Amino acid sequence: MQKSIVIAGAGIVGVSTGIWLRRISDADVTIIDRLPPGEGTSHGNAGVLASCSIAPVTAPGLIPKAPRMLLNPNFPLFMRLGYFPKLVPWLLKYLSNANDSDTRRIAKGLTTIVGDSVDQHKALAADTDARQWVQDSNYSFAYANRAAFEADAYTWALRREAGFEPEIREGETAHVFEPSLSPDVGLLATMKDHGYIRDPGGYVKALAKEFEKLGGKVRQAEINDFDLTDGKVTAVQTDQGPYLCDQAILATGVWSKPLMQKLGLTIPIEAERGYHIVFRDAEGGPSHPVMIASGKFVATPMTAGLRCAGIVEFGGLAAGPSQQPLDFLRRHAKANFPNLTYSEEVEWLGHRPAPSDSLPLIGQVGETGVFTAFGHHHIGLTGGPKTGRITAGLVAEQPVNTDISAFNPMRFS
Ligand SMILES: Cc1cc2nc3c(=O)[nH]c(=O)nc-3n(C[C@H](O)[C@H](O)[C@H](O)COP(=O)(O)OP(=O)(O)OC[C@H]3O[C@@H](n4cnc5c(N)ncnc54)[C@H](O)[C@@H]3O)c2cc1C
Repeated sequence: MQKSIVIAGAGIVGVSTGIWLRRISDADVTIIDRLPPGEGTSHGNAGVLASCSIAPVTAPGLIPKAPRMLLNPNFPLFMRLGYFPKLVPWLLKYLSNANDSDTRRIAKGLTTIVGDSVDQHKALAADTDARQWVQDSNYSFAYANRAAFEADAYTWALRREAGFEPEIREGETAHVFEPSLSPDVGLLATMKDHGYIRDPGGYVKALAKEFEKLGGKVRQAEINDFDLTDGKVTAVQTDQGPYLCDQAILATGVWSKPLMQKLGLTIPIEAERGYHIVFRDAEGGPSHPVMIASGKFVATPMTAGLRCAGIVEFGGLAAGPSQQPLDFLRRHAKANFPNLTYSEEVEWLGHRPAPSDSLPLIGQVGETGVFTAFGHHHIGLTGGPKTGRITAGLVAEQPVNTDISAFNPMRFS
């Protein structure tokens, strides 16, 4: 009997899972999303395949620094004040990880998902139209000076321990290497063998077309609930009626919480809001993705222009964009790339799916036949293809040859 599988969510994670499932099994696979593919968080990210992004934000020492960060208008952390009381339970859990042993545990888990990202993207997109969007590149971190670089020493030590050794360029050599940068940048730490996606939304759409070519179906509907019989999923309920299935995969990113509640699990996951500005038809920007360390955003040369994306704001899912973070991003983009010219600006607000322990949820919910593949925080584009491959293997009951215990979706129950 051919199995029927529903994948909820057509972001990078859901579409990667669909492709791998069709490649390794003959299951009837349908991806359902309320939007066309690649229009959620996967649309607007910075596009970096950040294999070295193994360290969570919750490094030791964060707790005493956090209030100062929030009050400093020159720090890229923002809060919609009315939302603060709702944030507190998640925030306390999140900050409880800001110690050495939890940070190392999280870094080990993330390395599994992101460490070989460029190869995973190439394997996913091999022989497809999507391959054109995958670009090999360096990935640089720009600091004002050596003292600012050394203030991040803990994170760099974790990266080095995982095998990611930066090349350091200071002063004139940094500017010869990346001439677009302002003279205020005094040190560049560059990681080789990284990559980026030249249009993340276009890439996911091209991958979804490949999924359809492989026999998969893409449908547009709002998913509301699951039907379970004797504890096993039998259908996914949508506003277009039920989709019968033998197994389901929840790849609904930051919107996964209410659907997990339907399965009886409360997951501490928050929307970590982030922004981008695309400077269309840009000239005078960087030749490769550059993380501006003081602004916590990445400037990536994309097909449409220079995309500056990043910033952290807490304020939930419902509120629209705030002006302050966008002003901050615009100001710092122009200051760091003083020769930037462009035809127009396009602004975007997105929502990173942030579980309180910064690790994605990958695995089966009990014995329900519902599998989770969400919670990728800052690294969902980087880690989407590997997550999709692992999840497809789990669902198809094939060996995944990877330790996924850190991602157990039951760990909060
Ligand atoms: C500013 C910013 C910069 C970033 N930069 C990077 C970067 O450079 N590199 C990197 O690796 N990551 C980056 N990220 C993070 C990355 O974008 C996310 O982790 C990733 O896109 C999550 O992918 P996803 O497939 O899990 O979720 P999404 O892409 O959000 O997909 C989930 C889908 O589920 C659908 N959905 C949800 N609920 C329902 C429902 N009830 N019914 C129907 N459909 C539903 C949504 O419409 C959506 O399409 C960045 C994020 C932001 C905000």
